[in-house]
Amino acid sequence: MQKPVCGSLDPSDWADFRAQSHQMLDDMLSYVENIRQRPVWQPIPAETRAHFQESLPYLAGSLGAAHERFMHDVLPYTVGNVHPCFMGWVHGGGTPVGMVAEMLAAGLNANLGGRDQMPVEVERQVVRWMRELFRFPDTASGIFVTGTSMANLMSLLVARTAVLGSAVRQTGVHGSAAQLVAYTSSAAHGCIAQAMDLSGLGTSALRRIPVNARHQIDIEALQAAIDADRQAGLRPFFVAGTAGTVDVGAVDDLSALANLAHCHGLWFHVDGAYGALGMLAPDVAPQLVGIERADSLAFDFHKWGQVPYDAGFLLVREAARHMDAFAAPAAYLRREARGLAGGSPWPCDFGPDLSRGFRALKTWFTIKVYGAEKLGKVISETCRLARYLAAQVEADPALELLAPVALNIVCFRYRCADSDNANREIVADLHESGIAVPSTTTVNGRLAIRVAIVNHRTGAQDIDTLLSAVRAIGATRCAASSLENQCPTL
Ligand SMILES: *Cc1c(COP(=O)(O)O)cnc(C)c1O
Repeated sequence: MQKPVCGSLDPSDWADFRAQSHQMLDDMLSYVENIRQRPVWQPIPAETRAHFQESLPYLAGSLGAAHERFMHDVLPYTVGNVHPCFMGWVHGGGTPVGMVAEMLAAGLNANLGGRDQMPVEVERQVVRWMRELFRFPDTASGIFVTGTSMANLMSLLVARTAVLGSAVRQTGVHGSAAQLVAYTSSAAHGCIAQAMDLSGLGTSALRRIPVNARHQIDIEALQAAIDADRQAGLRPFFVAGTAGTVDVGAVDDLSALANLAHCHGLWFHVDGAYGALGMLAPDVAPQLVGIERADSLAFDFHKWGQVPYDAGFLLVREAARHMDAFAAPAAYLRREARGLAGGSPWPCDFGPDLSRGFRALKTWFTIKVYGAEKLGKVISETCRLARYLAAQVEADPALELLAPVALNIVCFRYRCADSDNANREIVADLHESGIAVPSTTTVNGRLAIRVAIVNHRTGAQDIDTLLSAVRAIGATRCAASSLENQCPTL
């Protein structure tokens, strides 16, 4: 047996480490297995927070002690998105398969910036699968990133370079006479505007087009805005449609957007952060028709795809355009025809990251183990539950549906005199009760209880639990707020 190097960080007693590791794995499996026995969320006690304000530890501690601290102070106080009654924002539930795959990836400590290695081939396999799923051509490239916020930013940079030419990478956008203008809907995610900011194009060069009654971008208004900008001498170049808006889950008319973008020579991007993977579900896919015509598509495996955080993805129709925006020669990244420096192009040619983790592995495991059909069924089921919830809301005179349900998001309110405040309080009460976690948003100026069903563990009984809690809390809250309203306000 070879002795470890003195000073190495590997364990001196592997048997001991192995036992502790198995305990840690078992604890996490138990966490997932018994998640229903926990509150969805609970407030963090002050002393727990204080445990993480200690000074930098110089001396070694044991793995067992750190694990105990984790179990006691961290594990009980997360967002709760593993729990089936978590229905806030858009959070994926994760899976045990994804969890153990993460461990394998960490064990390899693979750096997927490039070079000739199988981990990069795993990522390329996922790229090929996504080409197939979204009916993109063989010329399409893809890359894992943190999330759709990053993927949207990258798509904007690819489009910018495509329209202005590679010289823009030296001159910057101000070196060009063309004043680029981009378009998206008023229901688009805030990261589109942020991408305009970060790319140097500026948020005032983003037109936020109004939406129709189904919360889809108004195609006529978009057409008019493009015409007006053209006439003003500006250069319309980019339109971002949304597949699954963050507020209500609306899907833009992607075919109409593709037509319009094509006819005006605009880059057609789709923010499909959570909705794009609806392609896996035969009953959802028809709503996404047109997505296959996108020049670029951003989405997350960590939402509807149930892959553990983080696993964002960018697919670009033409790999050459994609590389034009990011590839840069560097002596220390020289490519060779053979040896470990082979296998060009490398993932680092398709984005700003050089060191990159093995996000592809947990995604590959998730798709291999569950299969596209099963993952699609999970997506269909979340939509079915959303319709089930919406039907109950509509049948109850105490409740009001605030937006049409296209996918898996339901926005409603408890009817009450001081509606916005009452519904805000209802949601906060729900959070603190640990029973269920919806979030809030504003729909047509009114505060809505927003339920996004993303988790594969959520069932009809969880919707019932949520609804009866909303009714019970709503009745008390509303009675209280009408009493308060009787008091004179100063
Ligand atoms: C979640 C979401 C984003 C942001 O994606 P991240 O992965 O959180 O960066 C962008 N757009 C939409 C429509 C989303 O739902």
